[in-house]
Amino acid sequence: MYNLTDVNVIKAILAKDNFRFSKSLGQNFLIDPEVCPRMAYECGAEGGGALEIGPGIGVLTAELAKVAEKVVSIELDSRLIPLLDDTLRDFDNVKIINDDALKCDLKKIIEQEFPGEKICVCANLPYYITTPILMKLLESGLPLKSITVMVQKEAAQRICAKVGSRDGGAVTVAVNCYAETEMLFDVPRSSFMPSPKVDSCVIRLNIKDKKPVESENEEMFFAAVKAAFGQRRKTLVNSLSSGLGIPKDKIAGAVTACGLDCNIRAEALTMEDFINLTAELKAIS
Ligand code: SAM
Repeated sequence: MYNLTDVNVIKAILAKDNFRFSKSLGQNFLIDPEVCPRMAYECGAEGGGALEIGPGIGVLTAELAKVAEKVVSIELDSRLIPLLDDTLRDFDNVKIINDDALKCDLKKIIEQEFPGEKICVCANLPYYITTPILMKLLESGLPLKSITVMVQKEAAQRICAKVGSRDGGAVTVAVNCYAETEMLFDVPRSSFMPSPKVDSCVIRLNIKDKKPVESENEEMFFAAVKAAFGQRRKTLVNSLSSGLGIPKDKIAGAVTACGLDCNIRAEALTMEDFINLTAELKAIS
């Protein structure tokens, strides 16, 4: 079995195939031996199914394979597939799929690979797809228990901020609609090869059994959240008016009907405020 956090071992594996890191695919591989076992343990996949996005050369995949019953891992870079066949050859409970996690049908993959099961997602995410992949995982109605991911520290702080606080944004409200968020632990930039310019953090999203927004209101809710944070410097009324294309006086009426001040900004709204606002906006749109 390879020691996949040993820099010399990694270099030797990559050199065999003349592999060059792709910056555009967010290829920063973990070399800190403590991070992957901890992620594999804390993601809650013990004895169950785990879905990984972006295995790289398989450092986290191997740790997941030790605790989970089965691991399915989706890697976009076809150059890594033969390397993964080699580095993970000791595990018979791992399946690698060469596909784009943003484009593939995750629901179908999970139904086929983990029939009738609720699974855990665990990944050291390529940073350029953090928000779109999280939103895809959350919005696709997948049978998930939790999502444990390494993201840039700044993104972790934004995602895990309290809804209604200065640090919050559209992603905070959107993620908190589907999950309880937790910051698990920090990972310094020196834990990766090559080393990125920023530090990272592992977060866990524990999926809620029931969403606070009714399905028929979801479209307006997310449109309102996106519009509200679209122009952060503007007041809520101005952002909603330009983002949703509804006249300002109508928006002002909806905002005051929710008991909110017309000069309020999006970051001051709680989840309940957004839910009330959705109902008012639906009535005037
Ligand atoms: N898991 C490995 C680790 O921790 O060392 C590698 C993590 S690296 C930050 C991100 C990985 O995601 C790379 O292997 C990259 O090729 C892959 N990747 C990038 N974009 C992807 C996409 N859209 N779908 C699936 N994998 C992707």
